[in-house]
Amino acid sequence: MAFLEVQDLTLYYDTHRGPLRAVDRVSFSLEKGEALGIVGESGCGKSSIALALIRVLPKNVHTYTGSVRLDGRELLSLSDEEFRRQIRWRKISMAFQGAMNVLNPVLKVGYQIAEPLLEDGQIPKEKAFSRVKEILKLVGLPPETAERFPHELSGGMKQRVVLATALVFNPHLVILDEPTSALDVSVQAQIMNLLKRLKSELGLTFVFITHDIALASDLCDRLGIAYAGQLAEEGPVEEILQRPTHPYTQGLLESMPLLRSDKPPSFIPGAPPGLTDPPKGCRFAPRCPYAFARCEQPPPPFVTTNRSRAFCWLLAEQRTLTPPVPSPYTGRAREGSRKSRAG
Ligand code: SF4
Repeated sequence: MAFLEVQDLTLYYDTHRGPLRAVDRVSFSLEKGEALGIVGESGCGKSSIALALIRVLPKNVHTYTGSVRLDGRELLSLSDEEFRRQIRWRKISMAFQGAMNVLNPVLKVGYQIAEPLLEDGQIPKEKAFSRVKEILKLVGLPPETAERFPHELSGGMKQRVVLATALVFNPHLVILDEPTSALDVSVQAQIMNLLKRLKSELGLTFVFITHDIALASDLCDRLGIAYAGQLAEEGPVEEILQRPTHPYTQGLLESMPLLRSDKPPSFIPGAPPGLTDPPKGCRFAPRCPYAFARCEQPPPPFVTTNRSRAFCWLLAEQRTLTPPVPSPYTGRAREGSRKSRAG
């Protein structure tokens, strides 16, 4: 059994237009010490997957079902109180998006890192603050940072503080929600190197939420490609990058400029569907150049190919990825077989 096993995780929100299907039957598994990158466009539900895993849910939750097993223990059957006392921050923690806004501007950094330890009440104050200094060192900050306010820190330092708050209890699984999105490229590289070091030195397991597939490939062992509240494809990084099987993954990769190629990036026509009224069958169908009649039927099965899995009728029926006729949805066919994107 894998260290983290997520099966059919579903999270809908109540809205005035009806249930918004933010996370729909999402499944993946992860071994201890591995990192999974969940990659997708804005609004595809990737942050909602993170919130569902750590159970930080807004009040308007309509449906929250499925299975999340961490180290063999089912977490969805725990009450909110059990989850708060036993799991959140201790076993699963999260570095929230937007370090600039997550930190309280009127509290010293050291207190903000120590806060969960102090609230726990089981650790004396001196011990809590000595843990703060230890954890600041771990994320590459001097111990004096504890005495400073957030506005005295650079963006990169704030991001390290946010990471420190997530690590204070020595959790088994850390969720990183767009940890470098507001940073410039050189600081982004420093934070990515820090994450790689923490992963190898502490054996941490990461779920890394990002819109940047290149960044995710740099840190992660596996990738999950999110589209319209579902994981379109999931598997080892090299498999997804070199042999993408889902048409959305292929389109996403083809939209990236390549340094060593004259081929200009292409784009995926159309826009993702609204999640209150998504297409009944495959959610990618209105944009998919390979869509055929079967794709109007729900639900496309999660098919295993090589070492990855994809949510696609095309694979279920073992059709070639070269459509014989122009798609009825987009009115165009792609020419020729797709080449591997190795390199
Ligand atoms: Fe395209 Fe059909 Fe596969 Fe959806 S199920 S990605 S529409 S081929």
